[in-house]
Amino acid sequence: MKIGCPTEIKPQEFRVGVTPAAAAEAVAHGHEVIVQSGAGTGAGFEDAVYTAAGARIADSAEAIFAEADMIVKVKEPQAVERGMLREGQILFTYLHLAPDPDQTHDLIASGATCIAYETVTDDRGGLPLLAPMSEVAGKLAPQMGAWTLQKANGGRGVLMGGVPGVLPARVAVIGGGVVGTHAARVAAGMGADVTVLDRSLPRLKALDDMFRGEFKTLYASQSNTAEQVRAADMVVGAVLIPGAAAPKLVSRADLSDMKPGAVLVDVAIDQGGCFETSRATTHQDPVYDVDGIMHYCVANMPGAVARTSTLALGNATLPFMLAIADKGWQQACLDDPNLLNGLNVHAGKLTYFAVGRALGIDV
Ligand code: NAD
Repeated sequence: MKIGCPTEIKPQEFRVGVTPAAAAEAVAHGHEVIVQSGAGTGAGFEDAVYTAAGARIADSAEAIFAEADMIVKVKEPQAVERGMLREGQILFTYLHLAPDPDQTHDLIASGATCIAYETVTDDRGGLPLLAPMSEVAGKLAPQMGAWTLQKANGGRGVLMGGVPGVLPARVAVIGGGVVGTHAARVAAGMGADVTVLDRSLPRLKALDDMFRGEFKTLYASQSNTAEQVRAADMVVGAVLIPGAAAPKLVSRADLSDMKPGAVLVDVAIDQGGCFETSRATTHQDPVYDVDGIMHYCVANMPGAVARTSTLALGNATLPFMLAIADKGWQQACLDDPNLLNGLNVHAGKLTYFAVGRALGIDV
């Protein structure tokens, strides 16, 4: 199979869909890999690294879309890319179709077979191609929050780990899933006094079993959450209700009860945010102040560490990419119901029920 990897064209996207290591494995499986010149530069992979891995470099996205049987990307195809997709071609990337009717209609019209990273599942009901980005965002959250806590950056001037004789920062992590667990581990590793709140008792039990004493766990009742937010130097918002907007757990009125210069890191901003005063920000201008409380609300946090994110995503996508290339998408999906769950569009039809329900399109 010919696997094509174009340069990402969405603004501020530095990741790349196929790593040199993945290209080398695909070549070893007898496939041809075509990478657009410069596609890996943002993640630190120059063309020569791909050439050494056995890939071929193409000058343009047009050349790749024209030749490849399967396009492997990171972000959803932009309008110009959708115009280049053709009938029978496979597209393997993040799509996030539910809030995006224009993209959905274009993909249906293209006749391509579109497999979305975000709906591929694993045997435990997890989302293995979303998890690596949650891990990255979770580990980044305390790092960005710690920077924001510094006085010159608008924060309270509190050091995460304290020093001998001075208490560490208090960190409340709301949501103990993938993001929250990784955020808690890093914050605790920096020496902060960390409490993780979740509404799932089984999840809190699992965290308690796994991380004995590394951080505290607390049931996320409204009163417990409000109390932890009031006492915190940093709050990490890491909740997710699948298929729904994030619940608003801190109101504007609550900000006046918080410590001046405290920091809210709203990782759930890509689902609308879990603080009433959150609005999406960018890596260029990540932080703003509301009533003396600093807000960090970058919607694509993994982009800040494009190299790590590319490698983490590449590790997760590789087995699926190889299965599709080795067997063809039909057989690969027949063999693996988890991959089949990724199928969102095929041959002019929407095939994913939740997207159809969200957009009012027959599936
Ligand atoms: P997850 O499903 O692994 O965890 C979410 C947790 O939130 C669950 O344990 C759930 O029980 C808990 N929860 C739900 N409602 C709650 C409430 N009211 N109070 C306390 N806990 C509650 O999800 P995840 O992978 O950790 O993702 C968390 C959020 O981070 C999602 O919104 C995701 O889209 C977002 N995210 C953002 C970025 C970014 O760049 N900003 C990157 C990755 C993920």
